[in-house]
Amino acid sequence: MAQMFVNGESVDSISGEVTEIYNPANGDLVDTVPKGTKDDARQAIDVAYDAFQAWWDTPFSKRGEILFNASHLIRENEKELATLLTKEQGKPLREAFLEIQRFAHTLDHYAGLAKNIRGGYVPLLDASRHGLILKRPLGVCGAIIPWNFPVSLMGNKLAPGLIAGNTFVVKPAGTTPLTATKVIELMFKAGLPKGVLNIVTGPGSTVGQEIIENSKVRKIGFTGSTEIGRKVMEAAAREIKRVTLELGGSDPMIVCEDGDIDKAVSAASVGRFFNCGQACLAVKRLYLFEQIADEFIEKLTVKAKKLRVKDGMAEGAMIGPMHSTSQREEVEMQIQDAVDKGARILVGGKRPEGAEYEKGYFYMPTLLTDIDESSKIVQEEVFGPALPIMRVGDLDEALAKANNHIYGLGSSIWTRDINRAHFAAERFESGYTWINSAQIIFDQLPFGGFKQSGLGKEHGSEALDYYMETKSVVVATS
Ligand code: NAP
Ligand code: MG
Repeated sequence: MAQMFVNGESVDSISGEVTEIYNPANGDLVDTVPKGTKDDARQAIDVAYDAFQAWWDTPFSKRGEILFNASHLIRENEKELATLLTKEQGKPLREAFLEIQRFAHTLDHYAGLAKNIRGGYVPLLDASRHGLILKRPLGVCGAIIPWNFPVSLMGNKLAPGLIAGNTFVVKPAGTTPLTATKVIELMFKAGLPKGVLNIVTGPGSTVGQEIIENSKVRKIGFTGSTEIGRKVMEAAAREIKRVTLELGGSDPMIVCEDGDIDKAVSAASVGRFFNCGQACLAVKRLYLFEQIADEFIEKLTVKAKKLRVKDGMAEGAMIGPMHSTSQREEVEMQIQDAVDKGARILVGGKRPEGAEYEKGYFYMPTLLTDIDESSKIVQEEVFGPALPIMRVGDLDEALAKANNHIYGLGSSIWTRDINRAHFAAERFESGYTWINSAQIIFDQLPFGGFKQSGLGKEHGSEALDYYMETKSVVVATS
């Protein structure tokens, strides 16, 4: 039985109740975790609150050293961690390795920035006064994480937040607490002091709710749905808590008549079907210029047919199961709605058949064309392996349609015309744009959505600012 991690120790929930965690590929029990309540969350928040001053007083260089040590330990244990991640989440083992490595990379990135945090010096009116601009940590931060990337999305919050001097209470998603807890245990082995980082497993409605409401919590780093993100922001509003919200997306990809078709086809396939389509940044709407649409669709269809759907632990698995039955049903409903409105399924559109699929939540990679753009598959976020393909006449039409959406997370354009590429990059209403590339992210670049895709940035040196307050000090020298 797995435990939570509070005050540097593995603990059960106060009530002793547990939640069972099942493998989405076959329904097997993976492990149980404590079912934390508001009381467990409150206790962890108190611990993080008490640990804050000493952690703030710890030199930046020391904080960096601990995170570097942690990234080494995590890489040393990546096989065990990746295997556990595949079992609880469903993703192919190869992708689980990438996620663990990405977490380690994020730790390194912020550990490297630790000694580079700067405030400022400002000469004022006359020689008798100058100003200082100070950066200081916020205090206790809550990190609330979804199930699609349970480890890397946690890293996006912990790494800048810990380096800045904050302490944390993490609330993993209800169905993916296991790998995150192991990772946190390793961070303690790397030297994190007790109480600086705590993880409480349990439902969003109790543990999550306590974290967003508790007065000792000064900031919430949240990744998840726009629906819950709105609740987080509402709760935060009461005490003007800081929030970073990384929410839903429906990224458009535009392929112009002069784009590199083969590369764009590969990017569309990876960008849509990675993590079984359950990614915030993913190619979710495809806009093809008429001139190349037939060729593109033919090539993408051939590619999608070759994607091998299997248990994530199986040799050669390219697409694992979806994470849950409700997730699969939602995508099926979105596809059915598109078909009812006239869409044609080019490939997929059903569950795979055979004994190996019977107990899991598998779904075939799906491409649809002849789309009525009022369909849910265009208007909503599709969090699964289904891609609607639309045809457009020119760039103005493509951009207008791409931007006509409540979300603005990522976007991409494929063209050899540099002017057109840069024009589109400026006009896309999204926080990330790729030119002749897609859905690849870097710790060095700030990441975060426009519109209802979120608020604030993770990654980049910008993320540090979201975990610090800036204050001005006026010094009279005479
Ligand atoms: P979700 O349902 O919003 O849940 C996210 C987290 O919030 C979970 O840990 C959940 O706990 C918790 N939660 C639920 N109710 C809460 C409450 N009342 N108070 C506090 N916390 C609460 O999201 P999801 O279904 O796990 O993830 C999918 C969504 O995340 C998609 O919309 C996707 O686009 C988005 N996402 C965004 C990004 C990004 O960076 N922009 C990245 C990845 C995913 P329980 O699991 O216990 O309910
Ligand atoms: Mg959800």
